[in-house]
Parts: sequence; structure tokens; C-alpha cells
Amino acid sequence: MGTKKGKTSTESNEYEATVAEPAQELKRETRIELYAARRYLGLHTQQEFGLRMPVEVFFKDPDVAETYEGAGIDKKFTTPWEPGLRDGPTSARFAVVDYDSTKNVLTPSAVWKRKENCYCTLEGEPLTGEMKDLFQYHQLSVWANVQNTLDFFESGTALGRRITWAFDGNRLIVVPHAGYGENAYYDRASKSLQFYWFDSEKGRVFTCLSSDIVNHEFGHAVLDGLRPHYYESVGAETAAFHEFIGDLTAILMAFSNNAFRKVVLKESGGNLDTADLLAGLAQQFGKAVTNAPYLRSALEPDTMADLAGKLEPHALSVVLTGAMFDILKGVFAKHRERELKRFEEGRSKRPSDVRALADTVPRMQMLAIQPLDLLPPCAVTFRDYALAVLRSEQVANPTDPSGYRELMLDYFIKRGILTEDDREEQRMAKPVFERPPLDVFHPIDAIAASRGGAYRFLDDNRAKLLIPLNADLVVSEIVRANKLTRDRRALPEQIIVQYIWREEVLLEGERFGRFAGERTTMLCGATMVLDENGNLIHWTRKPGSASVGSSKDAVQEQADGAKRRDELLNTIAARIASGMIGETIGGELGLLERASPPFGVQRIDGTVRFTLSPHFSIRGDAENDDTGDRQWQISF
Ligand SMILES: [Zn+2]
Repeated sequence: MGTKKGKTSTESNEYEATVAEPAQELKRETRIELYAARRYLGLHTQQEFGLRMPVEVFFKDPDVAETYEGAGIDKKFTTPWEPGLRDGPTSARFAVVDYDSTKNVLTPSAVWKRKENCYCTLEGEPLTGEMKDLFQYHQLSVWANVQNTLDFFESGTALGRRITWAFDGNRLIVVPHAGYGENAYYDRASKSLQFYWFDSEKGRVFTCLSSDIVNHEFGHAVLDGLRPHYYESVGAETAAFHEFIGDLTAILMAFSNNAFRKVVLKESGGNLDTADLLAGLAQQFGKAVTNAPYLRSALEPDTMADLAGKLEPHALSVVLTGAMFDILKGVFAKHRERELKRFEEGRSKRPSDVRALADTVPRMQMLAIQPLDLLPPCAVTFRDYALAVLRSEQVANPTDPSGYRELMLDYFIKRGILTEDDREEQRMAKPVFERPPLDVFHPIDAIAASRGGAYRFLDDNRAKLLIPLNADLVVSEIVRANKLTRDRRALPEQIIVQYIWREEVLLEGERFGRFAGERTTMLCGATMVLDENGNLIHWTRKPGSASVGSSKDAVQEQADGAKRRDELLNTIAARIASGMIGETIGGELGLLERASPPFGVQRIDGTVRFTLSPHFSIRGDAENDDTGDRQWQISF
């Protein structure tokens, strides 16, 4: 059981590649006991005791592997082991099903050998990166990536809790060769991630081998599970936020790789402004499909003003992706300064960019992923996310000696996501924790016990919580989370309550075309996050236009709701005018559904409901964002 030199917890990077040699001769019973205690063990210990299994995957994709020396197959990649692994691979939360709908072929699954504790070819040989042309290798590679990325989201330095999918069932189906096509999808209806393959001048491209594409699509699945009502939103920013999470997931996962970071530093000379390798997404795909060096980049300078009125989500998402990449660069710069200081004070032999970048990773994971639990249940905007990021940082780091919050404010303001007024508001001296305004006290355990408990808490306090008395209030989720700082210090426990209600809105006037005279619903609601003492960690609301009382706050709330309703109507009208709303054409299980409009329409309880496309894809086309002629081709 040889281990290399241990690291102190402050220096270690939780998500770097393995440094520990896995224990070979561990008995299964021992491994299972260790597995049961897994959440208390750091990554290195998990690796050492075989709770993470090595799988050789591409760092990025086969094209990057050819372009950059040292960025080919990652021999040190590991993914979480579980006692119930099966052929497929199949694990607790994923099932790989290799069905190609173009060819109508079901390829046999990679074989799990329990005794050898590894995935094998049909002949029983352990699958390695050398076998990159074998479909069973593709199956293993795509599974290893999503299995690892799920762990990244659920770990203490991210959400600190188990997450669920947006559909009934616990296994997300992963289809590595779904058919011929230049795209990849997350599709809620068929509970699946689908990766297509295509032929280009440069050869056959398998999207399932691109970790960027796999992580992007999986980011959609994760966000859909966390906030299922975002799907039911016509707002441009909500759809763009989904794309942002896809791209952010891809960037953070690539970035969390030790060896890959070294290549990035070598290529960019430490200047992340030129780090195309890190910031550019899906190189192989981009080259083959668009002749661009990559599909999208986090280095675009666009601001909200530059893209005002844009409805195409992929195009709009680069504003937020760009802002977060700016922040990442800022955090890296701060860690570099610290490296220099350590050196000047004689505490290290030389300042290390490698260490500075390694320290930036868990910092960014905390900073960017933990706030997802603070987002509203519906109609999220970039501003909501920016405020959640700032609040999350304030709770974790109230004194902020290094000035992280100022850094974030600078970049959010520069991109037009926040304003100078927001900066003033953020700077105002306020207690870090306040109690929510209440008429009737409920103990936190009673609130957290069930949806019913949370509902009674909300219902007893409708007036103070600015919830209309007649609204049919639904608690869409109640969950507890135990998040950690990067040095594994426990943050206050979070009790996260999401609640929603619907308000009917009449589509009045010619601008609604064939929907004129029909009624639709506006989703309203809030996310309230309390700590174990009942203090308010965050409360973000999406009000309706009904009266919630006559106090100053209540009148303001109603005015905000009326503004939301007007914006909703304007957006629906704009979407109808641009031909972006159609009826969904159902495909069998959704697997074959390639021709659905950007926004679907459902009729529920006598009202029309507009929804985002039933699946999210990797690819957008900025040139054809709001023209009607290609509306039936969601893949573009
Ligand atoms: Zn996408």
C-alpha cells in the first residue's frame, strides 16, 4: 500500500489526479466498510483505499490529444467506486445503454468483473486507454466522466448533499452512440444523455469521447434536477443560465485535473488571458463542425449591453461564463501574490504557478457551485446568480481579508450583470445573519422534516413572507445540506426550501398570434435557505402581481410582480413574432426526437404552458438566433 509524500490539507487540492497508489489486496468487506464512511474521507484516502477506481480517459478529446503534448489520455484519472457496480457500466445513478437509433443496433456492454474489480472487454480483458476504438471503452469513458462529475457536485466543497434528477427514477441513462449527428443532448423525457457521432474531413468524431461535451450535457441534467422549473421559462436568461452551467461544468472539470493544469500553464506561460486550451470548449467538435478552433470560449469580452435583446441562449451565456472566468483569473492572481509573499518571507523555495493554480480550483468550486442552492425556484437571471455567489462568499468568508467580494463585484459590474448601486448595497454594514420576519415560529426540525412541515411554516407566515393569501402554494423541495470550506471546515448547515405558486395571465391582443385570448400561467415563488438555528442565509423571491398587503414591502413586492408579468408577456410576444414557439413533436421515448421547436407548448388545466425545449443541446447557432426558418432544427 505505497503512498507518495503526503500533503497538508491547505496545500492539497481535493480534485487533483491521484497521488496515492490504490490498495490492491483489499478485501471486499473491508472496502465496503470504508465505503460506508466515505464522506468523512478526503480524496487521497479514498484513492489509497480503492474507493476510487482508475479509468483511463481523454483529458479533453482526441483532437486535443493530438494537438498538445501531455494532454492525451489521462492515466491518473479516477472515479468513485461503489459496491453495486454492474455491466454497462451501471451504477447507483447511471446506466449506460449503447443503443444507436440510426443503425438500430444495441452494442454489448462493458463487462464488470467483481473479483478483479474492474471493467473489461467482452473477452474479459481490462479496458484501457489503448483500446480507444472499442465501443466498450467509450461506454466506460463516458460513465467514468459523469460518475466523477456527479461526485464533484455532491462533495462537501460543492453542494454538500445528494442530488436527484428532474425525472422519476434514480438512474440517468447514458447513450454513448445515440446515432448519426453533429450534436449531443440532455433529454428529460427519455431520462437520458445522448451522444451522437459524425464523420468529418478529419475523421469520425464521437461526441461521447469529449469530456467537455459530456460535462456540458451532464451540467444540464444536474441543474434540471436542482431547479426543474427553469425548464418552464421563456426568459432568455434562464435558458442561457442552463447553457452557462453546462460550460462552467466543463471548464471546472477540465481545470480540476492536475496534469492538465500543468499543460495549460506551459501553453499559456501563466497568462490565463491566452489560455485557449483551458477556456476553449470542445476543440474537436468545434473544428469539425464550425471550423472554429473550439465551440465556445470563456474569453469573450461580451457584456449584457452588447447582447441586449438576444434570445439565443448559447450566445447570451458567454456573458456569465466570461464573468466567472474573469473571477477565476482574479482568484489565480491572488494565489500567485500569496505564492510570491511566501517566497519573499523565506517560507518556500520558489513561487509556484502550479500550486497557485491548484489552490484556485477548490476555491472556484466553492465559489461557483455552492451558490446554486441559493437560486430562486423559477425564472433565474444572471443577477440572481451573481447575488447568490456574493452571499455564499459572505457566509463562508465574512471578514474577507483578501477582498474576494470586491473582486467579484468588479467583474459582475464590468459585464453589466450587477450595477454600482448593487456595490453600495453590498458594502452597507449589516449583520451577517438575520432572522426571517415571522408571525408564527416553527422549530427548524419541524420545517425541515417534510414538505408538509415546510408548507405549514410558510402558510402560517404568508403575510410576513409576502405570499398571496389565495395562492395555491406548493413546496417543490425541502432539503438539508452540509457544505464545507476548502480546508474541510463545516459551514452552517443549510435547510433549503423551494416553494412556488402559479398566477394566471391572459394573452390579450394580436401580438400573441394564434394564442390570443388564451390564458397562460406565470410561475412565482421563492427559495428560502435557513441555518440550523433558524437564521436566514438567503431568501430570493419571484413575486406575483396579486396584492400581498398594504405595508411598504408588500406594495413594492406587488409592483415587482407586475413588472415580472409585463416582462413575461413581452417575451412571449417576441418569441411568437420570431417563430420560436411551436408544438412539440413527440418521439418514441424522446430518443429519436430530433425535430422539436426551441420552445414547446403544452395545454394544462385549460391554460397554455410554454416550456424550454424538452432537451438541451451542446450546440447553438448565433447567426440564426431569432429567425424562423430553422425553427424545427433544435440541433442548430
Ligand atoms: Zn447546452
